[in-house]
Amino acid sequence: MKHTMPKNFPVESTLGTQEIKVDDTTLRDGEQTAGVVFANTEKVRIAKLLDEIGVDQIEAGIPAMGGDERDVIEEIAHLGLRSSVLGWNRANTLDIQTSLDCGVDAIAISLATSDIHIETKLKKDRDWVLRTIRECVAYAKDKNPDVYISVNAEDASRTEIGFLVEYAKAAKEEGADRIRFCDTIGLMEPFRTYEVVKHLREESGLEVEMHTHNDFGMAVANAIAGIHGGAAWVNVTVGGLGERAGNAALEEVVMALKYIEGVDIGMDTARFREIGEYVMGAAGRQVPAWKSVIGTNMFAHESGIHADGVIKNPKTYEVFPPSEVGLERQIVVGKHSGSRALELKFGEYGIEVTKEEAAELLPRVRQMAIELKRSLFDKELIYIYNDWKAEKK
Ligand code: MN
Repeated sequence: MKHTMPKNFPVESTLGTQEIKVDDTTLRDGEQTAGVVFANTEKVRIAKLLDEIGVDQIEAGIPAMGGDERDVIEEIAHLGLRSSVLGWNRANTLDIQTSLDCGVDAIAISLATSDIHIETKLKKDRDWVLRTIRECVAYAKDKNPDVYISVNAEDASRTEIGFLVEYAKAAKEEGADRIRFCDTIGLMEPFRTYEVVKHLREESGLEVEMHTHNDFGMAVANAIAGIHGGAAWVNVTVGGLGERAGNAALEEVVMALKYIEGVDIGMDTARFREIGEYVMGAAGRQVPAWKSVIGTNMFAHESGIHADGVIKNPKTYEVFPPSEVGLERQIVVGKHSGSRALELKFGEYGIEVTKEEAAELLPRVRQMAIELKRSLFDKELIYIYNDWKAEKK
């Protein structure tokens, strides 16, 4: 991991120098998205891709579901990946035993900690929650002293902070390795997240992991805020896939850490577009053109001022080069284009147009783009050029 503060920022990042580790839950929370089912071959491929780019831990699914789900988790656990492989469990010993039997090296034990969940969903009380998490962690430690244990505080964001600390301490005493702070329904904001996570980390002494949802579009911001508060782990999904509005996106968190916070965690980011396409394809979706970091529009420039700037120096309107995430730069010709982009575009086809000629062609290009209500294909540009040329004769 390298800390290299990006230059020319008006205010420096205040992020500390703790190690930051990424665990990906595309195969669990990602697949929990309404309407998404991965085939087992796709799950194995996704696990291998995540391992290849340097994800620290892969949340492979829920062994207690049995059948295909259990089989593929066992398969992933035995692929010999560098990544840790984690199985997700409800807080009962039967679920945990099923995970351990799959051969995973890490388990998550999930239990709700907010009163609304404890009282209306579980129909229990706080004492029961503390007792249960102690029993479950102790059970796992007893069966496999080497297994890595994450205790998940479901709905942590609506949990009374004193009780959340108590829950973390109880789990730690039994040998848990970290607590997952779950913003289950995505109602946190970065400033509150920072305060709560900092308090939880300092008071419990347990490592913290961020699990954030995007219901208000703040999943990535909250994940980063939690890291500022001392969280060492960040739980993400490829493309932000996940329940409802989704989770914090792997590629957004990693690139934000690198270019906003100046922390390069050493991941092979050049494969982000490839992995995004693969996962979205497996989920029956497409990567939207406007998607942060991996959408094709990230490096598509149409407006005259922007295209001219990027042609002169890409850094004028791009934070990082497209190759860093496996994309390519495109100068798009359309309603907002300027003559500089036209000169360049025709030049790509070996057609030399002068500044004056480009200025003459520009109104025709704009008119067609308005008529068609879109940017123009390269062929259409050639037609415009040919028509214009013929008229000149
Ligand atoms: Mn979730």
